Amino acid sequence: MLEHDVIIIGGGLAGCRAALEIKRLNPSVDVAIVAKTHPIRSHSVAAQGGIAASLKNVDPNDSWEAHAFDTVKGSDYLADQDAVAILTQEAPDVIIDLEHMGVLFSRLEDGKIAQRAFGGHTHNRTCYAADKTGHAMLHELVNNLRRHEVKIYQEWYVMQLILEDGDAKGLVMYHIEDGEIVIVRAKVVMCATGGYGRVFNTTSNDYASTGDGLSMCAIAGIPLEDMEFVQFHPTGLYPVGVLISEAVRGEGAYLINSEGRRFMEDYAPSRMELAPRDITSRAITREIRAGRGIHLDGRPGGPFIYLDLRHMGQEKIMSRIPFCWEEAHRLVGVDAVYEPMPVRPTAHYCMGGIPVNTDGRVRLSGDKLTEGLFAAGECACVSVHGANRLGSNSLLECVVYGRRTGRSIAEYVKNRKFSEFDSQSYLDNAKQRIQGLLTKKGTIRLGALRQQFQDSMSEHCGVFRSEEVMQAGLTQIQEFKEKYNQVYLDDTDSCWNTELIEAMELQNIMVVGEIILTSAFNRKESRGAHSREDYTQRDDPNFLKHTLAYYSVAGIDVQYMSVALGMFEPKERKY
Ligand SMILES: Cc1cc2nc3c(=O)[nH]c(=O)nc-3n(C[C@H](O)[C@H](O)[C@H](O)COP(=O)(O)OP(=O)(O)OC[C@H]3O[C@@H](n4cnc5c(N)ncnc54)[C@H](O)[C@@H]3O)c2cc1C
Repeated sequence: MLEHDVIIIGGGLAGCRAALEIKRLNPSVDVAIVAKTHPIRSHSVAAQGGIAASLKNVDPNDSWEAHAFDTVKGSDYLADQDAVAILTQEAPDVIIDLEHMGVLFSRLEDGKIAQRAFGGHTHNRTCYAADKTGHAMLHELVNNLRRHEVKIYQEWYVMQLILEDGDAKGLVMYHIEDGEIVIVRAKVVMCATGGYGRVFNTTSNDYASTGDGLSMCAIAGIPLEDMEFVQFHPTGLYPVGVLISEAVRGEGAYLINSEGRRFMEDYAPSRMELAPRDITSRAITREIRAGRGIHLDGRPGGPFIYLDLRHMGQEKIMSRIPFCWEEAHRLVGVDAVYEPMPVRPTAHYCMGGIPVNTDGRVRLSGDKLTEGLFAAGECACVSVHGANRLGSNSLLECVVYGRRTGRSIAEYVKNRKFSEFDSQSYLDNAKQRIQGLLTKKGTIRLGALRQQFQDSMSEHCGVFRSEEVMQAGLTQIQEFKEKYNQVYLDDTDSCWNTELIEAMELQNIMVVGEIILTSAFNRKESRGAHSREDYTQRDDPNFLKHTLAYYSVAGIDVQYMSVALGMFEPKERKY
């Protein structure tokens, strides 16, 4: 058995920022990070457009209050306003801190950090490093971890969270390189495992975004909050689904339908292409449904619309958004200087997650906290995004709440001892589980079942939802669970068996998918990214509340928790 004071699952921005903070405050705390990828391959590295903060470098009239208001309005009033106030007040400080660490932000003529426009933000407040912002930030953070001697277990897969009576005691992890299984005992466990884009068949997320941390917590008995709110990003490159950053529209690109018209004037006349993502994704889906989408040969009636950059000119495209140009060129052969890009909505971001308070402590229920368990980043729900996240607020959440969670762990761990538990039984169970998967004599190939599940989620719980369609999805999930028992693996080796990892990931995808669908089924209103064709209005009297979904093998129990209001009264959301 291994031992660390603190073990953090996840080497993305949230995990790295927390680890750094603990070490800065108390270098003697023994901190380790475990990641199933190399930390620099975490999805954070792919973040493109930028990170929001009211630095006022471009727009002197900006303020944290304006940033908070935009965030709460963007969330369709479901965000917890105390958490949003912290996010927006601490934003300028975390950016300056990143800058001091060495992050190479893009500059204005006067040498200050540049800031661009972004969807749903009323001021130009998004700081960026061209369109490779996540890359610039994560590299510096990982460098800093080495300097502070944080132990990194890279390419270890965490199989289980050890949580007994609401008390986190450690975890079970599997070494992908050689198949070794190890129990880690820790005073504090932190989840920073990122999102779940791979629950859907078309996503901007990387292959590792399979919702493992969410599923691990759910299986251990922790409720998941607001999981019905799935962000579909408006501009996934067709047909691959990879992201074309909102920065492209922030820099002035148009959305065009088959008639050559900028159709956003029908949906959000004051913000046009820079309306929030939920509204823009619905607009694109409606255009496509109405036959104003485009086919690859240019005929109308097809499955995508155009993102048109041509009027921006080569110099601007190549200096501000070179990576997006390159993606379209490499993946679909489009030269965006001369041709429009084919795009449609793609599953992008998890607004809900593991419920935490503003110190990053995980909730066991609406009014009770766990011991020794913390979470931050995309897997957590402190609820700064409510029902719809604004672009460039997620990187910000990772660093603001990563830092805060690190701070509270540094304090918490002082008074915390290692807990006792029966490590042998956890080890035996894990070995049995792996052996069971490797020796299974099934009839269904893993990849086939995963594809069926992802197709089903996209069909039954996409941009628009209704009771009938979701009911069909829930029925199918029961069939998929049966099928999982009949899966077999082609690879039965214990060295670098990626198929085995994928089998465990598929189980997580299925748990998370079922929680998303069940939470969505129960929310009988339309709010933010959750848009129901049978309940088209927002319903504050009945649903201005957070969902808490408790998973068990027998079924999912849905309860609710109140929203922290205070600064801004809920109003109709218009752009
Ligand atoms: C293409 C793209 C572009 C984006 N652009 C922006 C942007 O411009 N601005 C913005 O604000 N947001 C953006 N986002 C969102 C933002 O990047 C993410 O929400 C954020 O980076 C998530 O960081 P994280 O630290 O929570 O998780 P991640 O960076 O996803 O890291 C998760 C970590 O957990 C580890 N892990 C997961 N499961 C296990 C397991 N079972 N065992 C061991 N380790 C595990 C992984 O290996 C990884 O190290 C973008 C997202 C995408 C997909």
